[in-house]
Amino acid sequence: MSDKKCIFCKIIAGEIPSKKVYEDDEILMFHDINKSAPVHILCVPKIHIDSLNEVNQENIKYVAHILEKIPEIAKSFGISDGYRVVTNIGEDGGQSVFHLHFHILGGRKLAYMG
Ligand code: 5GP
Ligand code: ZN
Repeated sequence: MSDKKCIFCKIIAGEIPSKKVYEDDEILMFHDINKSAPVHILCVPKIHIDSLNEVNQENIKYVAHILEKIPEIAKSFGISDGYRVVTNIGEDGGQSVFHLHFHILGGRKLAYMG
């Protein structure tokens, strides 16, 4: 369920401190340590899933839960009018921490990335 070497598993376990935004039994949201935008929040499932590539019928409830919660959190940070949700997959996708996470980015005009 958790990976001893994984930095986000350590954050979830409270072994590494984080600035928490939201937490419940299944998910945790906390501020990114290296902000790419005025609002930069990371959303993680509380079980270790390497990336979106490993999502399946059993664990998708964590992803659904994160996606369901994001609009509420965006609203609470005043960015509902426009923000971006990103998940990087694999090295070529820019993933540096191999515990599934969704970035919430907002608070400034974001460059088109399509
Ligand atoms: P990725 O590049 O895998 O999509 O995103 C990983 C993110 O985790 C990066 O934006 C990085 O700044 C953030 N990060 C890495 N280590 C820590 C940490 O110890 N604490 C926090 N709050 N964020 C971290
Ligand atoms: Zn992990």
